[in-house]
Amino acid sequence: MPTLYLVSTPIGNLEDITLRALRVLREVALIAAEDTRRTRKLLNHYDIHTPLISYHEHNQRRRERRLLEALAQADLALVSDAGTPLINDPGAALVKAALAAGHRVTPVPGPSAPLAALVASGLPTEAFLYLGYLPRKSAARRASLQAVADLPYTLIFLETPQRLQTALADLAAVFGPQRPLTVARELTKQHEEFVRGTVAEAQAHFAEHTPRGEFVLVVGGAMRFPEKWSEATLDAAVAAGLRAGESPSALARRLAAVSGWKRSEVYDRVLAQKRSGGR
Ligand code: SAM
Repeated sequence: MPTLYLVSTPIGNLEDITLRALRVLREVALIAAEDTRRTRKLLNHYDIHTPLISYHEHNQRRRERRLLEALAQADLALVSDAGTPLINDPGAALVKAALAAGHRVTPVPGPSAPLAALVASGLPTEAFLYLGYLPRKSAARRASLQAVADLPYTLIFLETPQRLQTALADLAAVFGPQRPLTVARELTKQHEEFVRGTVAEAQAHFAEHTPRGEFVLVVGGAMRFPEKWSEATLDAAVAAGLRAGESPSALARRLAAVSGWKRSEVYDRVLAQKRSGGR
């Protein structure tokens, strides 16, 4: 039975593609791609010469019949510009149509920016809510944030560099400046960066460093936080802060906001480490 393969492709580093993805892209009769020029570059890199057809936001309805006809004859792969198709990328309608037509639909898993950001965020991963892009307008954005402000799940958002600072301001207004937040930038690329801390700290960071590149925001859920760190984790963070030259009071304030330890407890540990000359 012909199969529709949903193939994940790299989000930056070209090495992030599975052996199975390369084989499937080589073996299918046709690849439906969000941007054929971009996918052609990836295929050229791996010496793959499968024909491509465009399938994007603006032609997906028109293309559906043609792709179903192709799928009736032979296997078809769907790829997006980067990452996993259907995750804020086209494909949902095609999957639905392929299933309705009785075809097999199967994933070829691989990179996805939201999951990559989550797993390296340092925030809880057991239960999370992925919300894609926040609305563009501030009033709608705040309303969306309000709707999830009290949920005990880690929240994942996509954001553009142009809107990052206003989005951070809205996060501060709705969640409070002390809510834990990790901003993941340029994942898997040369300038990959994680700004881990609180919403206020991210605001301060990006007030100094103009946002550039691609961003995922990972926000700690309500009530789960602060999830108390182990003693070893706290001591390691204290040592790192002292090595970086942070003052005991600033260090205690910063770590108390994210560790679940009281400020006075953190402060005592900071002083103890200072007395013992750091560990
Ligand atoms: N389907 C894709 C995936 O699974 O990763 C997501 C597509 S969405 C249209 C593109 C957004 O994902 C970007 O605007 C950015 O927010 C995020 N993104 C993609 N690549 C990224 C990267 N290397 N680093 C950080 N964020 C990235």
